[in-house]
Amino acid sequence: MTWHASPELLRKYVDGDPGLTADRVWAVEVHLESCADCRALLAAEATAVVPLVNDVWDALVPDTEPAPLRGVRWVTTWATPAMVPWLVMTTVVTLLALVVDRLVAPPYPSLALLLAPVAPVAGVAAAWARGLDPAHELVAATPRAGLYLVLRRTVAVLAVVIPLLAVTTWASPVRWLLPCLAFTVTTLALGGFVGVRRAAVGLVTAWAAFVVGPSLVTATSPPVLEPAALGIWAAVLVAGAAVVRLRATVYARLES
Ligand SMILES: [Zn+2]
Repeated sequence: MTWHASPELLRKYVDGDPGLTADRVWAVEVHLESCADCRALLAAEATAVVPLVNDVWDALVPDTEPAPLRGVRWVTTWATPAMVPWLVMTTVVTLLALVVDRLVAPPYPSLALLLAPVAPVAGVAAAWARGLDPAHELVAATPRAGLYLVLRRTVAVLAVVIPLLAVTTWASPVRWLLPCLAFTVTTLALGGFVGVRRAAVGLVTAWAAFVVGPSLVTATSPPVLEPAALGIWAAVLVAGAAVVRLRATVYARLES
């Protein structure tokens, strides 16, 4: 006949009864390993620990949620949540410019075209702005921080802004694509010296003061957006890219 642990013995084992000698505890544990009936009996006796196990489990649950989906992880390696409000703002401004363009008569320069060159600048600034990104400290400490990350996020901004501009500006991309890229690269290049955010604010202000303002006042299309100026924009783009490449290390410790 097989030996089984009595309910009383199991109760003492569960309660940690000091009257239970070490060899009895050992015998009970060895038997429990091989006897499902006594394990079931033990589970019934051990109801006192159930609330404790539940409390521990509840505390662990937030840490055991499933990992983010692949698609979400892909997005987070290319963008940061801090970029979303800036991309929304850029979209709204571009669409408003489109509405204005539909309302004013043709001799007036297209507002969407005037704003197109600086459209990605705000998003680029947001992509590496310390104050805007809650995870900045974490990201800046990763081995892939710096230029590589800035470029990836810049590509993410352009991937949204360029199709948007292609839809909203009636003008051929020839007129705005090169200025757009030149402004983006110049923002990064200047950002290496004064911080990306400050560079963005400076460039947008200068563009508004010296190009957008005068064009709206005189109701003429600015010469810098004429096809003849494309050579200058190409030169700015190449020079900006060269500066970014030469000063690559500065982006690892870049402030906003
Ligand atoms: Zn048993």
